[in-house]
Amino acid sequence: MNVPDGDAARLWSDVEALGCIGAGADGGVTRLAWTPALREASAWLARRCESLGLATTLDAAGNVVAVWGEGEAPRVTVGSHIDTVRCGGRFDGALGVLCGLEAIALLREDGHLPRRPIALVAWMDEEGSRFATPTFGSRAFAGHDLAELSDRLDADGVALPDAMAAWERPFDALADAAGLERTTAYLELHVEQGRILERADLDAGVVTAICGLLGLRVRFHGRADHAGATPMDDRRDALLAAARAIVAVEAWASAGPPELRATVGTVEARPGSFNVIPGEAAISIDVRVASDADLARAEAELRALAAAVAAAGGVEHEVAVVHALAPVPMDATMTDLLERTAAAAGAATTRLPSGAGHDAMHLAPHVPTGMLFVPSRDGISHNPREHTDPAACQLGARVLADALRELSAA
Ligand SMILES: [Zn+2]
Repeated sequence: MNVPDGDAARLWSDVEALGCIGAGADGGVTRLAWTPALREASAWLARRCESLGLATTLDAAGNVVAVWGEGEAPRVTVGSHIDTVRCGGRFDGALGVLCGLEAIALLREDGHLPRRPIALVAWMDEEGSRFATPTFGSRAFAGHDLAELSDRLDADGVALPDAMAAWERPFDALADAAGLERTTAYLELHVEQGRILERADLDAGVVTAICGLLGLRVRFHGRADHAGATPMDDRRDALLAAARAIVAVEAWASAGPPELRATVGTVEARPGSFNVIPGEAAISIDVRVASDADLARAEAELRALAAAVAAAGGVEHEVAVVHALAPVPMDATMTDLLERTAAAAGAATTRLPSGAGHDAMHLAPHVPTGMLFVPSRDGISHNPREHTDPAACQLGARVLADALRELSAA
């Protein structure tokens, strides 16, 4: 990796240093929740924060919390996560934390004196790769009751409370991590994990909402008949109906608003025999939407689509909602602030929704929350080939610094 000169050098050396912790021979980075690799990374981060004079603690949920400034006033908080997926990259999550750190360093160099404290947080276990417990730290911080997670086991049969005990963090004390009442605003920078910014040659994106998620399962019931003895005009082929539904779902989403996504990720057919017309078929439909209205409309329109396909194919059908998660809008004041500070820093931006979930979605319902995306090369993430250019990283840190300056002066 080429090390940039000048302004971006400090942030980039942090990206490189943190990226070495948990790095494998394959070039991937693996820092799973409550492992020695993540602990080493947390300790590294704590040392970096303390070198800037921040009072740094590891809270009851394993979040690294570093505070600049005195007093009990609610804090302006900036952060992201430093855990990774298995064989992940150096930027997803880590860059948001390191840009927050760089932002604080820039403000100190500028002689800024925060009137309210600024807290930098690295949330525990955003990815959830070890115990299927994503956004664990931010959920604990938001005061969610996580008691139902006590029986989670990792792939080796280690229970979550035992893994936490290795960090001297008792599972029963998780409620101590609740911190919303000490928080007045939250900002998170993250890599885009898509190609929208890169394709438009933009420096950054201001997130409007974290998309809602609708999961449907559609089953078609036809008739299993002999593949040779049944004429083509006398069939009730459930898999054929499912295939037509897949094509129709793609056309439906393509004709919708630009942030709409719909994906058929699974297909089942029964009896699953070479010479039998499929009598039963089922597909999953994963839908991402940016507003509550779009969520309701998507379900209604996909139900109608499935009914039309089934009727045309002479088969019965049923639609089940597997899961439905409402979109989480970002705060308009924070969105405007990020857009304004980005423009002042000379960054070309757009507004866009986040198709992926982030820790910010657990703070946004309670405190004014904003998110800034920086470009991901080729849109790659959760992969050792993740990359964001040093200049884009530094510009992101500058925008965070200017936004933190305003928020901490109030
Ligand atoms: Zn992430």
